[in-house]
Amino acid sequence: MHRRTIGRAVVMITHGPFCHPCSRNFSSTLSGRASWGFIGLGQMGYNMAKNLRRKISPSDTLIVCDVDANITAKFVQEVSATDKFDIQVAKTARELAEKTETIISSLPGPESVKLVFDSILGEQVPLPSGRERLFIDCSTIDLTTSQDVARAVISSGSGQFVDAPMSGGVVGAQTASLTFMFGASGSPQLVDRVKSVLLLMGKKAWHLGLQGAGISGKLTNNYLLAISNIATAEAMNMGIKSGLDPKGLTEMINSSTGRCWSSAVNNPVPGVIETAPACRNYEGGFGIHLMKKDLKLATEMAQEFQAPLILAEKALEIYKQAEKIHPGKDFSVVYQYIANQ
Ligand code: NAD
Repeated sequence: MHRRTIGRAVVMITHGPFCHPCSRNFSSTLSGRASWGFIGLGQMGYNMAKNLRRKISPSDTLIVCDVDANITAKFVQEVSATDKFDIQVAKTARELAEKTETIISSLPGPESVKLVFDSILGEQVPLPSGRERLFIDCSTIDLTTSQDVARAVISSGSGQFVDAPMSGGVVGAQTASLTFMFGASGSPQLVDRVKSVLLLMGKKAWHLGLQGAGISGKLTNNYLLAISNIATAEAMNMGIKSGLDPKGLTEMINSSTGRCWSSAVNNPVPGVIETAPACRNYEGGFGIHLMKKDLKLATEMAQEFQAPLILAEKALEIYKQAEKIHPGKDFSVVYQYIANQ
């Protein structure tokens, strides 16, 4: 066990999912006049917050916050123009948390999540009481940071904290068809409340267990994705080099045992699946830098639980090399790296 400081709280770190003994009873209803906060309007958050604003009651308040003032200005302009809703901007995450009760965050990684929650909890003055605050963090981060933040939120009396990372990419965020995987320690009412919030931005919300379980699920999924993407790229390259037609080969694989998301939806070969990033010069998908981050996080998690990941090191090296040649592209660009060896 060791100590870590987040905000005003010194938290005791133990291993395994965190279980909060006190189950506060949150209302699971979304009716009535409610106030919502969204922190981090990036590729995912921008679209999620737009869907949220459309689906909550017109009389509800949505307050947004992002370190990039251009993004919040664009968001306010776009949403007010198309949907005629009132959007407020908070200068800081703390200001946002003071005024809202359901707060969703979608941030780049562990450092930004720590910064945001330090700013929310780190003031000498506690958050104003009278609101049953629920923090839902959709960022892909590590288990330790997520558990530290959850403990700090609860021990400071600021509300509940749930990890709810997501899958489905930017298209899923735009079309409100994301899959969320969440970890929540608390009453069934808390779980219901979290689900009802997440389903405003997605199609599926899996409650995987206690706080932290969502992170474990997400990193497990993305490790599999990291490997299956490389395997698809290698296999497609081998088949094409042997003289097979790329489209015919893909159709055969997708009705056989090699089928996976990387072969069926995000096929790495240009000209095969029209909607895949490979057909638009690998633009606008799941950035190779994000896959590198997730592979590192999955490797740390595997080390913590002594689960061997035999392919992780090699896979990370392939993504690093591919990124040097194709910076800023979708992670399926590893096909180009492999094909041009
Ligand atoms: P992004 O980098 O596009 O967006 C992050 C946003 O957070 C940016 O607008 C940035 O300005 C803002 N931000 C950074 N630090 C901040 C702070 N301290 N306070 C307020 N705002 C801050 O990232 P993204 O692609 O939207 O991804 C968000 C999260 O979702 C990441 O953890 C990512 O791994 C995960 N994710 C992304 C995808 C995808 O396809 N992009 C898919 C699934 C999960």
